[in-house]
Amino acid sequence: MKNVAAVMTDIRKFEFKEVPMPVVKEGEVGIAIKDVGLCGSDLHFFNGDALKIFPNSLPFILGHECGGVIYEVGKGVEGLKEGDRVAIEPGVPCGRCEFCQSGRYNLCVKVRFMAVPPYNGGLQKYISYPAHMVYRLPENMSTMEGALLEPLSVGLHAAARGEVTLGSSVTILGAGCIGMCTLLAAKARGASRIIVTDIVDSHLEKALELGAADAVNSRKEDVVERIKELTDGKGADVVFETAGIAATAAQTGYVVKRGGTIVMVGNILGDVPFSFRNIYVKEAQIRGVFRYHSTYPAAIEAVASGRIDIKKIVTGIYPFDDAEKAFNDALDNKEQCIKNVIRID
Ligand SMILES: [Zn+2]
Ligand SMILES: [Zn+2]
Repeated sequence: MKNVAAVMTDIRKFEFKEVPMPVVKEGEVGIAIKDVGLCGSDLHFFNGDALKIFPNSLPFILGHECGGVIYEVGKGVEGLKEGDRVAIEPGVPCGRCEFCQSGRYNLCVKVRFMAVPPYNGGLQKYISYPAHMVYRLPENMSTMEGALLEPLSVGLHAAARGEVTLGSSVTILGAGCIGMCTLLAAKARGASRIIVTDIVDSHLEKALELGAADAVNSRKEDVVERIKELTDGKGADVVFETAGIAATAAQTGYVVKRGGTIVMVGNILGDVPFSFRNIYVKEAQIRGVFRYHSTYPAAIEAVASGRIDIKKIVTGIYPFDDAEKAFNDALDNKEQCIKNVIRID
């Protein structure tokens, strides 16, 4: 067996290199990677932005949304065997700190997260990984669906943080991959009516296809006025910011209902102007979302049972050799690409 990785060696540049076969240690499983989803954070590295935060991290292997097949089982591992198709939860928390102990292990500061320097990601044929963060997939789920459990987990965690429940009215600002996953999660939790906003019509059409009741193009309509109209002047019980931009962050307070909840999901790096008057007058609350915790079992159940059809977010599937193209397309053709997946044979 030979291991080959798509190594990022420069901005927008991958080199396919032979790298050592991983050593499968005690408590780990060796996994042949089959599917890797491209995430916004991978693209931030690929276009060079994240290299400002992580200088000198090249050469580096991207990819943290992975599904694959077990080829070797390390000592002491129970419940997994060779040939099992699995999903990989990309963060391995320390298990000992106060956050790990309380179950909110996404807040662990010692987490080792795939494709966050210095830890390489999954754009390679074989990796070894701690078995307790690896989940066997049921018969009716593909390894691609396994890979997609990662972005779905963000949506599920966001919907849980917003306490979306049967009958909740929901507004999602941003219809990219995470907006779509939040939509699927909110719907699965019983949201009554979901309004989605974006600037790209094809994204809005996709959101309608996935179950949104209304789609608002913020380039063509006044989002705040339109959402007021659609909610009888009340606003939404739960508002999700998933676009990660200042303008949508500023809208949240205007479109949340009195007593409602704003959930900040998108990554906004800079400081943004925000009217807190909306928050205290409405007694609204703002909650943050950082990755997710404890989502994989429920995510698998939701996809296997058909309650969430996660593969519908995929807009492109590329062979491993075309990894560079998969990334370039995602950067240059944002209108068409919601989620690109790379297949490794
Ligand atoms: Zn991701
Ligand atoms: Zn910890």
